[in-house]
Amino acid sequence: MLTADATPSTKPALHAIRGAFLDFLEDPYHVPESESVRYIPDGLLVLENGCIKALGDYAAMRTEYPEVPVTHHRDRLIVPGFIDAHIHFTQTEMIGAYGEQLLEWLNKYTFPTEAKFQDKDYARQIAAFFLDELLKNGTTTAVVLAAVFPQSVEAFFEEAQQRNLRMVAGKVMMDRHAPDYLTDTAETAYTDSRALIERWHGCDRLLYAITPRFAITSTPAQLRAAGKLLEEFPDVYLHTHLSENMAEVQFTMELFPDCTDYLNVYESFGLVRDRSIFAHGVQLSDSEFERLSRAGATIAFCPTSNLFLGSGLFNLRKAKSKEAPVRVGLATDVGGGTSFSMLRTASEAYKVTQLRGDRLSAFQTFYMMTLGGARSLLLDDKIGNFQVGKEADFVVMNLQSTPVLALRNPVAVPSDFQAMADAVFGTMILGDERAIAATYIAGQLTYKHPEA
Ligand SMILES: [Zn+2]
Repeated sequence: MLTADATPSTKPALHAIRGAFLDFLEDPYHVPESESVRYIPDGLLVLENGCIKALGDYAAMRTEYPEVPVTHHRDRLIVPGFIDAHIHFTQTEMIGAYGEQLLEWLNKYTFPTEAKFQDKDYARQIAAFFLDELLKNGTTTAVVLAAVFPQSVEAFFEEAQQRNLRMVAGKVMMDRHAPDYLTDTAETAYTDSRALIERWHGCDRLLYAITPRFAITSTPAQLRAAGKLLEEFPDVYLHTHLSENMAEVQFTMELFPDCTDYLNVYESFGLVRDRSIFAHGVQLSDSEFERLSRAGATIAFCPTSNLFLGSGLFNLRKAKSKEAPVRVGLATDVGGGTSFSMLRTASEAYKVTQLRGDRLSAFQTFYMMTLGGARSLLLDDKIGNFQVGKEADFVVMNLQSTPVLALRNPVAVPSDFQAMADAVFGTMILGDERAIAATYIAGQLTYKHPEA
């Protein structure tokens, strides 16, 4: 399935990366860090055909693999690739649009921008820029909304396939409360989505998400069509927005007066299950949290977007409760979100928890960005940490990437666990794409910072 190392005649069968490695075996929210966090200050990661063959202390591994060619990332921290649980590639160019909250923002900025994606060449050009931007920020997997036009999905998947990326994406379904130039129908949404699933789902590393934008812009007939697709293709994802903003919640309840709450709208069409990803969830009731937990569904926590659009402070503590835990992925939500950087996003997530009287450690956040993100997509058998057999998507981080960070983190890679936790926290709060020295996809160096 992986193609990166498909030419063994020109590449060695095995190669290895030396450096400091940090990943997660369990959720540090619930399991003590001594058991959930794995830190190897001088390690060797052995790669074979794009996957992880072994990881351990350098000295011991070198004895076991004396011949393997090694790339040494000295003074760098190597972590699993970041997973962005919710992002719009079609909003790349309108990031940072001034002054509105959700519903006005959609009408004023988003819809006119998304109209441009009818042109496939344009869509490819933006998809290429978007994916390069993700790699520059260390994001190796994302859950992506395209536009309503099937060709915008084709363009995205073609560019992602060229880069051998593991990506989840889908065509937006939208048949009301949007401009005519941007709407489909219940029937075309069904047939177009179905054709895209058959063409792309499971093709190389690509996966499909059935993507009604949100309850406001889909008629009951269209949501029923989405439910039918899920029944026919049970291993595809459902990806939509849920309970982001108060005006949105009120309008939704006016449109679906028979439903008890916002989540119940999706439930009534069979859209709430373990492969369902709901962005935001800022205004959820206790009952909605509990039902999301029971269904095994995922919330994409979008802190920069929730702050920028004035939507509110997501209750992460509630989602992470021991009694009724909900899977949570961290997400940029560009272009409602204000950065492609998962580090900047993590920094805002920390501040949101502070405003709620809670806190979020660096390791809890990095878990959400890696193994937690993979678990939220049911992809933890493939990505998320350095376990043997997984696909080798990872990021080489520079914890001294700016003068301030170099001053704050005087030791490039502390060998002491607590000192490392502190350096990672500082980088999460102060860092951005400059902290990403390199990004590897399926074991291949795919992005390198110009000064790294
Ligand atoms: Zn969104």
